[in-house]
Amino acid sequence: MNSVQKNIEKIRDELHLHNYYYYVLDMPKISDYDFDSKLKELIILEKQFPQYNDVNSPTLRVGGAVIKSFSSVKHDFPMYSLDNSYSKNDLEDWNDRLFKNLEDDKLEYFCELKFDGVSINLTYENGRLTKAVTRGDGVYGDDVTENIKTIKTIPLKLKGSFPSKFQIRGEIIIEKDDFLKMNKKRYLDGLEPYMNPRNTASGSLKLQDSSEVAKRPLKCFLYQIVSSKQDFKTQNEYLSNALEWGFNISSTYKLCSNLNEVMSYINYWDSNRVDLNFEIDGIVIKVNDINHQNELGFTSKYPRWSIAYKFKTEQISTRLLSVSYQVGRTGAITPVANLEPVLLGGTYVKRASLHNQDQINKLNLCLNDIVKVEKGGEIIPKIVGVDLEKRTSISKKIKFIKNCPSCYTLLSRHESESNHYCLNYNNCPVQVKGRIQHFISRKALDINGLGNETIDLLYSNDLISNYADLYDLKKEDILLLDRMAEKSVENIFNGLEDSKKINFERVLFGLGIRYVGQTVAKKIASEFKSIDNLISASLDDLILVDEIGDRISESILEFFNDQENIDAINRLKDMGLQFEIKESNLPINNILSEHIYVISGIFNNHSRNELKSIIEKNGGKVSSSISSKTNYLLGGNNIGPSKLSKVKKLEIPIISENDLMEMIKTKLL
Ligand code: AMP
Ligand code: ZN
Repeated sequence: MNSVQKNIEKIRDELHLHNYYYYVLDMPKISDYDFDSKLKELIILEKQFPQYNDVNSPTLRVGGAVIKSFSSVKHDFPMYSLDNSYSKNDLEDWNDRLFKNLEDDKLEYFCELKFDGVSINLTYENGRLTKAVTRGDGVYGDDVTENIKTIKTIPLKLKGSFPSKFQIRGEIIIEKDDFLKMNKKRYLDGLEPYMNPRNTASGSLKLQDSSEVAKRPLKCFLYQIVSSKQDFKTQNEYLSNALEWGFNISSTYKLCSNLNEVMSYINYWDSNRVDLNFEIDGIVIKVNDINHQNELGFTSKYPRWSIAYKFKTEQISTRLLSVSYQVGRTGAITPVANLEPVLLGGTYVKRASLHNQDQINKLNLCLNDIVKVEKGGEIIPKIVGVDLEKRTSISKKIKFIKNCPSCYTLLSRHESESNHYCLNYNNCPVQVKGRIQHFISRKALDINGLGNETIDLLYSNDLISNYADLYDLKKEDILLLDRMAEKSVENIFNGLEDSKKINFERVLFGLGIRYVGQTVAKKIASEFKSIDNLISASLDDLILVDEIGDRISESILEFFNDQENIDAINRLKDMGLQFEIKESNLPINNILSEHIYVISGIFNNHSRNELKSIIEKNGGKVSSSISSKTNYLLGGNNIGPSKLSKVKKLEIPIISENDLMEMIKTKLL
């Protein structure tokens, strides 16, 4: 290394360190002026000697890279969500489940704040930040590395001795006072204020110009290390070490040895959270011992070794100004309360859902009443009560509408239902449009190029009146519409073409049968395998399916009884959409058909889910707990101790992932 390069490296290291003192420890050791001079010196040197470029240089903190689109990246370890609890009882239930799955009779609980921001997964290799990916859908996220590098509480280079490769997860937040400052500035600039710190943080990560991101007051708290190797024994050790390496770990965590201690921690923060300079929406409780965590593993959605405790939500009073009514795509009418705007949990609340007439009656709600509003887990706030003492003579009874606000058909209400419905299924504009909009939506046919507004436009120009019409659209017709350029039309046609590859369960969901959501669609698709089988199913056939009751079954029958629906399905079939399960979802052979496996530990070559699918594709079964029926324990590193002792007792052989592959290979030959 020559002297210029040495000097550049030295300044970089100094700046990394001072950055840490300033932003993470909040204890600057040099003046802002000295820091800025060093930074300027480095910028000049880097310009002069581009050959010594470093992708993790402190000069990147100011941003500059412009990203056209963020590439989607598969997470090495899925980012699960957390199961929720709301009371001591819920926690006790969780605790009972832990003890059922573990052999030990003592556990330690690691309690942390549940930061209300955007989660991020950072990868460090040889002490340098190499990748930053958003949570996305938990399996795939967006690569936002360049933007993340501008966040000064995230180290670009670590100090001390750290594992050569690991990932760390955290939450990106905006502090309350920074948020108020931002909004004050926006107000002075004549701009709409931002809604709340979390959404603003989330939006900031997706800005295309990283120098714009650098201007946002983003901060990051780290809380979880993930690695294919187990470097430490407990969550406590992981976090104290991460602190040494330069990560911003909130010192609010606490190790507890029983649930009473956990409850005092929760109660303490429930009453003191107003004093924090950032928003939290609860507490996260984790089993401290990593061996225990591995043994407990994950459900399809959550880690079993962790749970969130959600705080009761804030309430505020305001006036009910009026009620408006919305028609959904299934014809259900939802009354919506229009409120005098109030600030609640950092957001201006203007509207609240009232669900249905029963709800209005139950609340004994009148126009002009002073109502209590609360924001629950869902984004739309709700009215939870009326302040009867404040009711005056200007209060007026709410008269539920009699006709559909979209097509004026008289509304109907079935005795057993609490919703009013517009039954004009085939001609009510909002319903017809709503169904097509549902059909093209991301979780259904995911038709790129088409959005709700385009559907509006196509519908109001009489070009479509159901989803099958989309596939008969002609280029000339669309080009005549406002705002439609050649390129957008091409996108629409490509999107429609791609939708022909979407699997049956999503097509089924897209049809918009009342009560058939994603989970139900998945269930009936795998049960009936094709639309023809489903159409010819009787009420009894349907009710026999697990978790499908009268209400869903009747709605399915009613849907297929309507000739217009059958016609649309036939047209979609002719167009080539998927109306049956492709064989590849089923086992490809039966060589493991006699085998029941239990999977435990961490593997080098495959994830547990991959192993599960390999076994199932070859006809085997995977079970979550060991019994006398288990044939093999497929074990990786750190097999849970209770599983280990059980297999020993039952003399069940333990095989490795390589053994499994060998077994399949020999059986196939
Ligand atoms: P939810 O999205 O409500 O299922 O909650 C799970 C999310 O909580 C995670 O994806 C994290 O983004 C967030 N979270 C905030 N603080 C923590 C923490 N201390 N430990 C784990 N997750 C946290
Ligand atoms: Zn209607």
